[in-house]
Parts: sequence; C-alpha cells; structure tokens
Amino acid sequence: MISSRTPLASTTRPHVTGELPGPRSAELLARQELRESNARVYPRHFPFAIADAAGSFVRDLDGNVFIDFLAGAGVLSLGHNHPELVAKATEQLGVLTHGLDMPTPAKDAFTHAQLAMLPAGMRDRMKIQFCGPTGANAVDAAIKLCKTATGRGDIVSFQGGFHGSSHAAMALTGNVGQKRPIANGMPGVHFFPFSSCSRCPLALNPETCQTNCVALLERALADPNGGIALPAAVIMEMVQGEGGVIPARWEFVQRVRRLTRELGVPLIVDEVQTGCGRTGSWFAFEQYDIEPDVIIASKALSGIGQPVAIVIYDRQLDTWQPGAHTGTFRGNQLAFAAGAETVRIVCRDNILGNVRDRGEQVAARLAELADHPGVLEVRGRGLMWGIELTVPTDGSSVTELAEAIQARALRNGLIVELGGRADCVVRMLPPLNVTEEVMAVALDILIEAIQACTAVRAEAA
Ligand code: PMP
Repeated sequence: MISSRTPLASTTRPHVTGELPGPRSAELLARQELRESNARVYPRHFPFAIADAAGSFVRDLDGNVFIDFLAGAGVLSLGHNHPELVAKATEQLGVLTHGLDMPTPAKDAFTHAQLAMLPAGMRDRMKIQFCGPTGANAVDAAIKLCKTATGRGDIVSFQGGFHGSSHAAMALTGNVGQKRPIANGMPGVHFFPFSSCSRCPLALNPETCQTNCVALLERALADPNGGIALPAAVIMEMVQGEGGVIPARWEFVQRVRRLTRELGVPLIVDEVQTGCGRTGSWFAFEQYDIEPDVIIASKALSGIGQPVAIVIYDRQLDTWQPGAHTGTFRGNQLAFAAGAETVRIVCRDNILGNVRDRGEQVAARLAELADHPGVLEVRGRGLMWGIELTVPTDGSSVTELAEAIQARALRNGLIVELGGRADCVVRMLPPLNVTEEVMAVALDILIEAIQACTAVRAEAA
C-alpha cells in the first residue's frame, strides 16, 4: 500500500482508490473553479490536485498515484524532479537566477550544449536567440525574423498544425475550432495540406498519390496565377503533435525543403514538441535528412520544467536590429543550468537509445490494436504516440469515446492526453527515460481502457 509518505521515486506501479476526485483534491478543485479562469483545461480531464511527483509518477492530495504519460505536456523529458537536475538548479539558485540577455557561465554552457546537439554540418552555421520563455513566443520570434530578413509578409503553414496560443502563433494553427476560437489575428497566412495520409485531404491513396499534397504547394508558389505572394517563411512540424501525432512523410518533407531552397524561402521547423529527443533523435528533422533554416525549441529544453525557449537560425538571417525581439524573461539561469545538465545526462545515459527501444516496445504492443474496430490508426515516432479512434456506431461522438478511454485509464492509474480533430486521438508523451517495466504497465492499462470503452459502445449500438 502506497501512503502519502512513501517515497515516489521507488514506485513502479500506480495506485488509485475510491472515486476521483478524492475529498482533499475536490476541495482544491472547487476553489480553483471559483477563482480561476474558465480557460483552465487539464483539471477538467484530470480531476485531482497534485501533491508531489517523481520520475514517471505523480501523487494526488488523496494519496492516489498515477503514471504520468503527459509529463507536463512533454516538458519533463527526464521525468519529474530528476535528482541531478534538481541538484544543478538548486546550486544555481544560490548563484544567480535571472540575467536578462547578459552572458553568464550558465547560459554559455547551455548555448554550447544546444549548438553541440545540432548535426555537425550545422553547428558553425547557426546562431541562437533567447526569446520569451514559451513555444509561442519563439514562433512569434521566428516569423518576425523571417519577415525582417526577407522583407516579405506572408507565411505558409500546414493544415492540422499547432504553433501556440499567442495571437500570431494561433493564426498559424490549423485547428479553427478548439485552438483558434477567435477571428484570425494575423493576415497573410496560407494553409496547405499536410501529408496526413489516413485522412488524405485530397482523397488520394498514399500508395499511388506521388505526394500530390506537396505538389499543390509547389504549383501554387511557382504559378504567377497561384494567388500567393512569395512567402517570408514556411513553418511546419515534423510530427504534428496537437494535430493528433501525425508524422510527416519523408518524401513530403524532402520536397518542401527542395521547394523552399529553390525559391529562397526560409524553412522553419517547429520542434517545440518533437525536439530534445522526443522522437528518438535530438531533433526530428534529422530523421528526414534535411537541414532547416530555422529551428524552434522550448518545452523539454530545461528537462525540469523551468521555462525557456530558443530560436536557432542560419546566421545569414541575422538581420535583427538590437532589441528587435525583447522579453523580460530571456535569462532563466535555472533553466540554463538544468538544460546543460539534461544534455549531459541524455548523452551519458543513452536516453535517445531508450526512446527508440521504448518506442519499439510501444509499436509492438499497440500492434494488437491494428485490426480493432474502434481504432482507425496507431501512429508514432520514438516516445510520441497517438491512437486515432473511429467514430462510434452507437450515435455517440468520437470525442465522448476518447474522453471515456482517458477517464478509464486515469481511474486505473494512467494519465494520457487527447488531441487531433475533435480530440479523436489518445496521445502518450512519456518521460524519455521511462523504464520498460513502467511502460508495460501503462500499455496494459491503456489497451484495457480502449477495449472496455469500445466494447460498451458496440453493445449499445
Ligand atoms: N508549437 C508546438 C508544436 C507545440 O506543440 C506547442 C505546445 N503544445 C507550441 C508550439 C506552443 O508552446 P507553448 O505552449 O509553450 O507556447
């Protein structure tokens, strides 16, 4: 029995008793509802208040212990409170915490570590910009940079993509329903189809289509009658995360890169979610054999949830005037100290190898869902996985089904996220150092939840 005082670090299994929320969590949830904005989101799906956390586990105020396969929305790459990261951040706390954009030893070490993780051919070519500490702020910075460098105004983005909740990042986001609830804040954004093959936007067959989704973009940009001025940038995710874990096809990315090179359009890869090892390489673009002009990274950079975001870009684009993209919180020394240590641990412990091995474990185990009538497709790279559900035949919505699966998994001790169109995809973003044992337990819970919830609906139909 796990009590509220048992150290979480030695836990290998979840433990949930009674109804959720338990009484102590319920008290905080009620106060939160009264006092906090209606925009809050996670407590609606995960009805508990967090007491503490360690590694792949979180514990609520009532002593329930969950496997956390949301990991702070992909932020906690080495799990909660990794002891070596905590030690580095604690040490830094007594030295310096906030440094604007001044050089400091912690920042110097972090910068060195980040540039060293780039493919060898890019290290000397790229510069790093510290912007406001969120993915959305880095997206804003990247598009402003490309507009400044090219003197152009339009941006090409892809359907299904997600780039953040600031006004400009939202304007680049495909989901006009949930994620873009207000009218477009930034003109000049053109959306093109992504290689989203299970629901091809052009209704083509991926075996024979010759990647015609990208041909549409090629022709639109090359054609003087295409209606689109040469853009300042093309922005894309290598694996659409919020869009439902949709890895881009290799050929698609290759052709986007070739086209943007030929036309002199900077290619921005948004690696906010895919970066820092999530897909099995430090950056996902490495698996596509391309070199982008601009890379955006944030979430897992510090490994410990200390906010930090960077734009890494070709030095030829460095046309900024001093102060062209300021922000008070560009100097989080705790994030820098922990982030440099994260890179050291990722290399020392072969964390990328673990991501690939655990990814294979997930693929092998989820293969049993391939012919499941409730499942349209299982997709993933490294430790970023999504199970797209089919629309139930009993008249309920796919959102209701996904929420039922999420709630059942939670009740059995596993936190998973939803995403994609109408939240039809159950998503996993585990810590990158998750063990084989914890992964096996989590997959048991998830598969049971999918089977149980889809069986109930089949009976009702
Ligand atoms: N880009 C991508 C690909 C993301 O997944 C996210 C966050 N989910 C963002 C940008 C925005 O990051 P933030 O929430 O830190 O602004």
